[in-house]
Amino acid sequence: MSYTYPEAYSIELGYNIEPMVAYNLSLDKILKNKHNFQCDKNCPFGLTLINFGKSPYTKEPHFRTSNFDQVHSVDCPIVQKRYEKRAQETTIEESYTFERDKNEVKVDINLVTATFTEITNSLKTEEQASTEIKTKKSTTSNHIGKKSFNSHVKSLSRLVQLYKEFKSGEKYTFLDSSGNKLNLDLYFQNLDNNSLINEHETKVYYSKATVRYFKAAKEKDSYFLIRIKQECQIDNLRISPTFIINESQANQQGVKQRLETLKKAANNSKELTIYYLGPFKKYKNSYINASIPHEKILRHIVLSSS
Ligand SMILES: [Zn+2]
Repeated sequence: MSYTYPEAYSIELGYNIEPMVAYNLSLDKILKNKHNFQCDKNCPFGLTLINFGKSPYTKEPHFRTSNFDQVHSVDCPIVQKRYEKRAQETTIEESYTFERDKNEVKVDINLVTATFTEITNSLKTEEQASTEIKTKKSTTSNHIGKKSFNSHVKSLSRLVQLYKEFKSGEKYTFLDSSGNKLNLDLYFQNLDNNSLINEHETKVYYSKATVRYFKAAKEKDSYFLIRIKQECQIDNLRISPTFIINESQANQQGVKQRLETLKKAANNSKELTIYYLGPFKKYKNSYINASIPHEKILRHIVLSSS
C-alpha cells in the first residue's frame, strides 16, 4: 500500500491534472509519456499514470510512485498536507511493534527486542508443542501461537511501510519508550548499501532479491529459493544470502498473500524487495542463510514488488 495522489503535476502541460483527465489526454495522444508526472510543481518526486493510453482498462487509471528510492523535496506541499492531516487524527494506531499517535511513532525498543525474543520463544513453544503428544491442551497453545504470529506478520508489514514512507520524506518522528528520538536506521539495514552482516544479529535486513521455484516430483517437496542480489559478507565468507521456502510447510495462516507474491515473482522472473526480520547464519561455511527454520520463515519476511 502506498499513498494515492488525487492529482499530479504534468511536466508536459505545466499544471496539475487529475488521473482521468490525464488518461483521456493520453488516449488523444496529447500526453506522450506515462512517466511525465510529478508530485508537485516544486517537488520532483516522480509519478506514473497507470493504464496510460490503454483502452479498455481493467483498473481505473491512477497515479503511482514511479520508483521507490525517491525522496520528496524538503518543502514539498503534499508531504506537508499529509502531515497536517495526520495531526488531526483522533485515534491511535496500535500495533504489535509500535504505536502511532498522529505523526509520532513510538517503537518500544524493549518491545522490539521482546518481539524478536518473543518470536524466538514462540518458535520454541511451537516446536516443543509439535514434539509433544497432541493433547487438547497443546493444540490450544499452538492456536494462540499462530494468532500472535499473525499479528506479527501484519505489524511487521506496517512498520516496514512507515519506515519506507519516512525514508521517502514523510514527516514521522520515531520515539523510543521513554519518548526520546529514535534512529530506526539502526534497526533497518539496507544490504544493497551495507553488505556486512554480523552473524546472529537480529535486524530488519532489506535488499533486492530474485525468486525461483523448484518443482519437485512430490509436490510437498517443491520450494521457492529467494536469493538476495547483493553478495554479503559474514567473517570471510562472501556470497548472496538465500532463503528456502517450502510451500506446503509455509502455507499457514497469515502468509497466503506472501506465497502468492512469490509465485507471481517466480513466474514473471520479477525482482522483489525483501524485508527480513531476524538473524543470518553461516551454513557449512559455504552459504549465508536466514537463521530461522524455513517452515516459519514467511512470518519474518515482508515482500514488496518495488
Ligand atoms: Zn512531493
